[in-house]
Amino acid sequence: MVRFTVLASGSKGNSTVVCGGRTRILVDAGLSCRELFRRMKLADEAPEALDAIVITHEHQDHVNGLAVTARKLGIPVYFTEATHRAWTRWLTPRRQMTYKQWLELCRKQAAERQAEPEAPALDAATEESEFEDAGPEEAEVECLVQAGATSQPAHLDPGPVADTALAESTPAEPASVEPPSLKEDPTWLPAVEYFRAGVPFSIGDIALSPFTIPHDAADPVGFVLSSEGVRMGFATDLGYIPPNVRQQLQDLDLLLLESNHDLEMLRDGPYPWSVKQRVLSRVGHLSNDATAEFLSSAYDGQAAYVILAHLSENNNLPELARVAAERALLGRASLLANRLLLAEQHQPLSAIRF
Ligand SMILES: [Zn+2]
Ligand SMILES: [Zn+2]
Repeated sequence: MVRFTVLASGSKGNSTVVCGGRTRILVDAGLSCRELFRRMKLADEAPEALDAIVITHEHQDHVNGLAVTARKLGIPVYFTEATHRAWTRWLTPRRQMTYKQWLELCRKQAAERQAEPEAPALDAATEESEFEDAGPEEAEVECLVQAGATSQPAHLDPGPVADTALAESTPAEPASVEPPSLKEDPTWLPAVEYFRAGVPFSIGDIALSPFTIPHDAADPVGFVLSSEGVRMGFATDLGYIPPNVRQQLQDLDLLLLESNHDLEMLRDGPYPWSVKQRVLSRVGHLSNDATAEFLSSAYDGQAAYVILAHLSENNNLPELARVAAERALLGRASLLANRLLLAEQHQPLSAIRF
């Protein structure tokens, strides 16, 4: 049986469990390990049965609980190499300074870059995005909490389950080597596997086809996941839908697609101008209108389920996203096939089973 369970979706954390055959994977780990486990149990998914974590990009709302979760379960993490490097860079400075000092330093560096007229715009956006993806302020507060995980001993010592899994998943390393603590090395993971956009790969019984998406991260990707003949498209955090993504999101049984903001709410909303510009940019997030435009034109209308995801809590309302998508799907020959669901930030969506 194939199961697809969105545990959380939005700027405060993203994570989805996909099960196919005998394999279970987590796509993104944007909640704390504790919260991930709590939600998995709520959704009837056993955390210790997870085989791997796959990361779409290094923004905080996608990796918040990554290190703790991978360590606790002793499972491999799949990244692109550039995403892994960006994640490592993001965590490393905290070893030398407090998180507050580090944030201060990053702000100073960003201001210096802005003062340089010739500085490439994308570089500045990339640095900035490491904090702003989760929305102003809240992201920083949440990250602080996560950084505080170093003082939670319960998360530092893998239990017996993790010990076994660790030995199995990293055969190259002697089992007697003690992993460093989070404090010693916050970037240490039981095992790291690299994939590349455009090059399909498999984790057990699940096949993944990663594709590049336009977003201000090091090397962001979406996926088509398939198992037992069921195809699931997964694309959040993208500024627009380029032809390669349109092409990928066809012939699906399930489509999870971002519907981040309502344009008017964003324009009139509380975000600083620079953040509004970033969200609206070609490497920002999809508006309800952009998603609707795809659903009404390029999308083939074949999926049994369409899940709207990564809704902004500040700049969107579930009703607005739903109505825009419903209108877009109306008149499609296969409307009845497209059961529309909205992924939520604060509770898991019921498992979709095939
Ligand atoms: Zn992002
Ligand atoms: Zn995100």
